[in-house]
Amino acid sequence: MNKPDLQLPEHIHPLADNELFTFACHSAVPCFTECCRDLELALSPYDVLRLGRELDITSQEFLDRYAIIEREEDDVFPRVYLGMVDDGQANCPFVTSKGCQVYGGRPAPCRTYPLGRGAWQDKTGCPQAFYVVQRETHCRGFAEPIEQGVDQWIAAQELADYYQANDMLMPLQHHQKLKQGCKPTAEQQDLYLATLYNLENFRNTDRNFQELTDLALLHCAVDWLIQQFFDERGTL
Ligand code: SF4
Ligand code: SF4
Repeated sequence: MNKPDLQLPEHIHPLADNELFTFACHSAVPCFTECCRDLELALSPYDVLRLGRELDITSQEFLDRYAIIEREEDDVFPRVYLGMVDDGQANCPFVTSKGCQVYGGRPAPCRTYPLGRGAWQDKTGCPQAFYVVQRETHCRGFAEPIEQGVDQWIAAQELADYYQANDMLMPLQHHQKLKQGCKPTAEQQDLYLATLYNLENFRNTDRNFQELTDLALLHCAVDWLIQQFFDERGTL
């Protein structure tokens, strides 16, 4: 797959390699926490694992308490979103006047902002990515005189594991058979959720998984699902 040719809205600016952007977010910006509401915040399997751990609950408990699972007709796999609070402002359940209550486990979109990341697989199947900066008018962080590049931002926000985890999903989510029009059954969609969004449970299915790192476990989970869905005996 080649880099997608996107028509971007005016406030979204693609970042060239090594290009710097000026931005900082901290408790003294006048808009502090104002962006933590009314969000369509999609959660990846790794986001759910880290958020559950930060809250000291299992992934399943996290899904039950905080997530909204959407199954749209046109989607190949279900989508998981963080549910906003029904308080008239649609606040994130984790925002407080002092900031993010789950800062150490905040999901990748919160870490990435004000950047955006688009990822794809090149002809050899290697993940590639491009980055944009989203200059939204309500965000006063752009007035802060701190300059950095994408690599610095990724390091400062501890995003490397999140991106690696998300890129691991591509061989499943962009599998050739899906591109040819195959669609997972409702049971397969359930298996997708139960496997990727409940990694503690998947770890317990095999003694060999016990010592694996989270990322290695996720890799095994993706491989296992690919086998289940696309092997010669599979129904897809
Ligand atoms: S998880 Fe934290 S950073 Fe993200 S929207 Fe909620 S309060 Fe804000
Ligand atoms: S709007 Fe921008 S500067 Fe303000 S809190 Fe959100 S990310 Fe930080």
